[in-house]
Amino acid sequence: MGYIRGEGRDQGSLFPVCLDELVPEEHLVRVIEAYVARLDLHRLGFSKARASKVGRPAYDPADLLKLYLYGYFHRIRSSRRLEAECQRNVEVMWLLGQLVPDFKTIADFRKDNGVAFQATCRAFVQFCRQVGLIGGQLVAIDGSKFQAVASRRKHLSLARLKRQQARLEAEIARYLSDLDEADRAEAGEGIDRGAVKTALEQLQARHADNLTCQVLMQAQGLEQFVIGESDAQLMRTQQGARVAYNVQSAVDDKHCLVLHHEVTRDGNDTRQLQPMAEASQAVLAQAQLTVTADAGYSNGEQFHACEEAGITAYVPLNRGINNHGKGMELFDRSIFTYDAEHDRYQCPAGQWLLLKQVRGMERIYAISGDCCACPLQSRCTNSKRRHLTRHAHESAFERMQQRLKARPDMMAKRRSIVEHPFGNLKQWIFGNGRFLLRQLGGASTEMALAVQAYNLKRAIQVLGARRLIELMA
Ligand code: SF4
Repeated sequence: MGYIRGEGRDQGSLFPVCLDELVPEEHLVRVIEAYVARLDLHRLGFSKARASKVGRPAYDPADLLKLYLYGYFHRIRSSRRLEAECQRNVEVMWLLGQLVPDFKTIADFRKDNGVAFQATCRAFVQFCRQVGLIGGQLVAIDGSKFQAVASRRKHLSLARLKRQQARLEAEIARYLSDLDEADRAEAGEGIDRGAVKTALEQLQARHADNLTCQVLMQAQGLEQFVIGESDAQLMRTQQGARVAYNVQSAVDDKHCLVLHHEVTRDGNDTRQLQPMAEASQAVLAQAQLTVTADAGYSNGEQFHACEEAGITAYVPLNRGINNHGKGMELFDRSIFTYDAEHDRYQCPAGQWLLLKQVRGMERIYAISGDCCACPLQSRCTNSKRRHLTRHAHESAFERMQQRLKARPDMMAKRRSIVEHPFGNLKQWIFGNGRFLLRQLGGASTEMALAVQAYNLKRAIQVLGARRLIELMA
C-alpha cells in the first residue's frame, strides 16, 4: 500500500483556483471583512482615511486594520511577522487582496493610530450591545498586570539610588585610602596603581551618574523612574516585581464580553472601582448598574461615590483585623455599637467611646478615662485604652457588608465572569509575553487591539460567523 500523494508541483489546471474558493463561507476573515466594511474610518480617526488626490497612493487604512485584527486574533503582533503572513498566508492574501505592505508601513500604521484603534474597540462593543450580546445586568471589574517593554534593571528608585550612593562613596574612600597607603609605602609594591586609578575613575563616573539621576528625579518629584519606559511602574506580579502596567477591565456577565478597559499606571486597584463602574455605565447608557469586584477594590470613598451615581457594588471589605499579636484576636469593631445621633460608640462593657481625634479620612474614638478597671480589657486591647477608628465613609462600608451578606453568591459569579477574559488575553493573545509598544499610549493601543480580538472571538463563538456577517451587513 502506498501513501496519499499530493499533486505534482508543475501540474496545470483547466479552471484555475481563485482565492475565494480557498476561504470557507464561515471563516474569520469574512467576519473581519464585513466588520471593517461597516466602519466609518474617518469618523473613528484613522489617518489617511480619505484618499489623497495628489502624490503616491497610500495603503487603505481599512486593509491595514483588517491585517491587525487578523494578526491579534492569531497571536501575531509583530509587524515583521505580519509582513511575512501577507506573503505566505492564503487567508491574509484573501483579506488584503494580495497586498504586501512592508513591516515599516505596518508598524507606523499601529503607531500613528492608537486613538483610532481604541475608538474601533468601543465601536465593536456598541455593535455587540445593539445585537443583544451584552445584557448589562451585572458587570465584573478586575485588574491584571501586563509587563512593559523594560526589564527590572532599567528601574530606578530614589531609595535605591541613595543606598547605591552610600556604597559607591564607601568604595571610593577605600580606593583613595589604598592609594594613600601606597604613596606612604616605600615603592608601593603589591599595588597596581594604574588599575586602581582606572577602577577609581569608573567608580567616580558611576557616582556622578547616580547624583545626576537623583537630582533629575527630585526636580520632577519622582520616587521611581524606568529608563526608556517612563510611564510604566515597578509592580508586584505573580512572577515577582516587574516593570508593568495595570490593565483594568469591566466584563459583562451575559457572554463575558469586555465592555470597557483601561491601561493604568496604578500599582494596585484601590482607586479603580468608581472610574471603571462609571465608564461601564456610560457604555451601557444605563442609569442603574450592578458591579462586582474583589477585595483589592475596597475603598469607602468610592463605595459612597458609586452609590451616589446609581451603581450597586459588591466588593469584599479589605480592612485590618484587630489582632492580639499572639494569634488571638481582640474584640472586632462590629461588637461596638455606633450611636449615629451622638456620634459615639458603646463598647461591650457598656462604656461610651467619644470622638477624640480626626486624622484625614479617619475619626478616632476612645472612652474618657482608661480601660484598666475593665474586666474585658485583656480581650479588648493591649494598651491602657481601646481606640476605635471610624472611616469618614464607614456607613458605606457597612452597607456594602450588608449587601454582600444578602448575596453570598456574588464572589463566585465575579470569578466566573472576569477571570475568563484575562486568561484569554494573557495566554491566547499575549502568549504570556509583554507589550511590544512603549509608553502608556503604545500599551493602550495594543490592549485595544487585543480586547477587540477577544470580543470578536466571543461574538463568533456565541452567534456563529454566518449570523455575525448577516448582522454586520
Ligand atoms: S477595655 Fe475599654 S473599651 Fe474595651 S470593653 Fe472594656 S471599657 Fe470598653
